[in-house]
Amino acid sequence: MTFKITLLPGDGIGPEVVAEAVRVLDFIASKYNHTFNFTERLMGGCSIDKYNSSLTDETLADCQSADAVLLGAVGGPKWDDPAAKDRPERGLLALRKGLGVFANLRPVKVHPALMEWSPLKPEKLQGVDILVVRELTGGLYFGWPKGRDIKDGRERAVDTLEYYDYEIKRVMELAFKLAKGRRKKVTSVDKANVLESSRLWRQIATEVGAENKDVELEHMLVDTTSMRLITDPAWMDVVVTENMFGDILTDEASILAGSMGMLPSASLGESTVGLFEPIHGSAPDIAGKGIANPIGTILSTAMLLRHSLKLEAEAVVIEKAVEQTITAGARTTDIGGKLTTRQMADEIIKRI
Ligand code: NAD
Repeated sequence: MTFKITLLPGDGIGPEVVAEAVRVLDFIASKYNHTFNFTERLMGGCSIDKYNSSLTDETLADCQSADAVLLGAVGGPKWDDPAAKDRPERGLLALRKGLGVFANLRPVKVHPALMEWSPLKPEKLQGVDILVVRELTGGLYFGWPKGRDIKDGRERAVDTLEYYDYEIKRVMELAFKLAKGRRKKVTSVDKANVLESSRLWRQIATEVGAENKDVELEHMLVDTTSMRLITDPAWMDVVVTENMFGDILTDEASILAGSMGMLPSASLGESTVGLFEPIHGSAPDIAGKGIANPIGTILSTAMLLRHSLKLEAEAVVIEKAVEQTITAGARTTDIGGKLTTRQMADEIIKRI
């Protein structure tokens, strides 16, 4: 089969890890007789430098016409000025909006051989297999009004937490659908004791739960969830929550796995064009050294094959190869080894 994949390597270690993920995809293409046509575009800080825009219309159009988009990471100290009129993160938000991806999926699993790299005790990590589903296009990051003004002689800042019923329903339905292929348990996270938007969230979760009785639904306050993630993470299966709670909880969940470099993510919407990226940032402290862990990006390509290209067998082959590679003791520096980015990818490709 033939597919078009847009690559947005971005800034910092983004190009280093995306290059290795492309080698993995090329290997899959030759092994399974597919053709992946890659188009590479600038996005983030590098795009600001060249085009004065973190995401140009042409790049967005190219992404929209692809079967899937693979992103490295964007940002870095060079573009951190809060007063700048464009920032790399703006491009990311515009890309998510432009692709209509409303759910970010972050699977968190802890490989037994890497438990020592997690800040939690090994006994807490046995059986951890969580899928966090974060709502991506609503809530505080997009609500209006937003901004600063002077009111009653005081400087004031406003953000608005707004959700429509349909925005909650579609992400909730996706969470239940995903739970059916897993341990059939959904934890819906909110702050319904305080926030009106959370009360609507809980109401819709209950309604969707009533239509999916084969899946167990529990409601949990976000503060309780943040504690349970540390004290008893193995108890969670699918966790679904709104944009900002998800932003915070997904980072908390990701440290369970030991290194930011290990975890993939997928952002999905109504269409099959998904956005796939590792959960880590551009890691300016190690950029250009060739030592970044490529596993998060390589596992993101597995999610790309599964969710956008519907190539389940190929996705599983990559995931198994990564698992075997870790079991065999291959390690980049972030997980206590000496392998370079390229060498780690070689180890994985060898096992595919
Ligand atoms: P980061 O994830 O870039 O780095 C945090 C720490 O983890 C660093 O010590 C880094 O060296 C390490 N690390 C991250 N990925 C690694 C990998 N693959 N292999 C080995 N070590 C790895 O987070 P940060 O330092 O807070 O942010 C740096 C920049 O990235 C900022 O400009 C931030 O805005 C941006 N950022 C971008 C995204 C994105 O593109 N989606 C996400 C988060 C942060």
